Amino acid sequence: MQREVKKGVTAIKQITRRLRKAYPNATTELNWSNPFELLIATVLSAQTTDKKVNEVTPKLFGKYPDAFALAKAKLTEIESIVRPLGYFRQKARTIVSIAQKLVERFNGEVPKSMDEMLQLPGVGRKTAAIVLGTAFGVQEGIAVDTHVQRVSQRLGLTQNKQPEKIEQDLMALVPRKNWSWFGHALTLHGRYVCTAKKPQCSICVLESYCEKVGVPQNDIGSSLFQ
Ligand code: SF4
Repeated sequence: MQREVKKGVTAIKQITRRLRKAYPNATTELNWSNPFELLIATVLSAQTTDKKVNEVTPKLFGKYPDAFALAKAKLTEIESIVRPLGYFRQKARTIVSIAQKLVERFNGEVPKSMDEMLQLPGVGRKTAAIVLGTAFGVQEGIAVDTHVQRVSQRLGLTQNKQPEKIEQDLMALVPRKNWSWFGHALTLHGRYVCTAKKPQCSICVLESYCEKVGVPQNDIGSSLFQ
């Protein structure tokens, strides 16, 4: 057991060191210029790409630059703007409800704690952790998206499947000051190297510390032959 813990600590130190070198300034790929924009863009990014969200938000924030404006928006107008992102009715309803709550409860400002963020409709720990860490530098969680989930499982950093449990495992391993950056770094690594269908183990900086859990043997060096 002691050996296992020691191995985990050594591995996470090396993984962090290598990720730091590869993604020194890892952050979101969503465009934003204030916490309100980051919150809304993060909610809109569910089930779609950051690139698509970035195509839609200039129009959205051009017309509705803050929570006060968005809280009073006509739902049909928001729906037509966010339509290209899929789930547009649900997303439109959610972001208008968030804006209304921000106005009613937080004077139009995005709150700076996890407890308060979780009071916003449709906002879970993942969105809250992204906004708190990225916009305010407040480290209250590690955002576990589909990439973080997959990469941390393959690396052997967690054996859990539920995002909340994976987050707990990662928070226990990673120093708190690195939580926000670590989430972003694993997301980028999952998006561009440790991809769902073809993990590029042969060029991966984490290869020597990776347990490659669930990675089929014939995928491990696949990028060599592409
Ligand atoms: S070695 Fe392969 S499975 Fe492990 S993190 Fe890198 S790409 Fe993913």
